[in-house]
Amino acid sequence: MSGSAGRLEVITGPMFSGKSTELLRRLRLAQVARKKTAAFKHASDVRYSDDQIATHAEQRGWAMGVSTAREILEAWHARGAQVIGIDEAQFFGEELIESVEVLLQRGRRVIVAGLNQDSFGRPFGHMPELLARADALFLTTAVCMVCGDEATKTFRKPGIGSQQVLVGAEQEYEARCRACWVAGERARAGPGDGDF
Ligand code: ADP
Ligand code: MG
Ligand code: ZN
Repeated sequence: MSGSAGRLEVITGPMFSGKSTELLRRLRLAQVARKKTAAFKHASDVRYSDDQIATHAEQRGWAMGVSTAREILEAWHARGAQVIGIDEAQFFGEELIESVEVLLQRGRRVIVAGLNQDSFGRPFGHMPELLARADALFLTTAVCMVCGDEATKTFRKPGIGSQQVLVGAEQEYEARCRACWVAGERARAGPGDGDF
């Protein structure tokens, strides 16, 4: 299929599930196919450096840090790119949807990676709208740090605070299966709370 109609691919799942790794892999394959690529990530992901997509597996790829999705449309290196990758998409505001639609209208392949849920299990940012608009979805899973089963949830370790956006890694968060995530939330809430 030629790319003239645009295509939206969404890679989503909990922390440590390989979202950034998969995004980098797809961008690399596009480069092998001699497509011009451009990579972006939200600037609040400052775990490693301003200008890289960072993975927990120490893979890195160059990416421009931006704080609004408008900047993606304005960026010099997106102008000529056929394939555009956006990491940490959950941190962008509503304008991400509009920017992605503009890129799709221009026939671009847009690959977005981001958390589907926050550590409270709530839909994260504008990911729901992107999931609904996707031509292809890829749900990544991690390994539950309690029992070793497949993990679909992100657990915020106790004593870390309650704001939704808290950028961090292994010290603050761990991947858990639903059962171990629920058990952790019940333990946090205390006895008698959360039973129904
Ligand atoms: P994401 O972008 O989804 O957070 P990354 O691509 O950055 O994921 O990192 C995935 C890597 O994290 C794995 O390849 C593995 O080396 C490492 N890792 C650390 N903890 C876990 C875990 N609980 N389950 C799976 N992978 C983990
Ligand atoms: Mg990542
Ligand atoms: Zn588990």
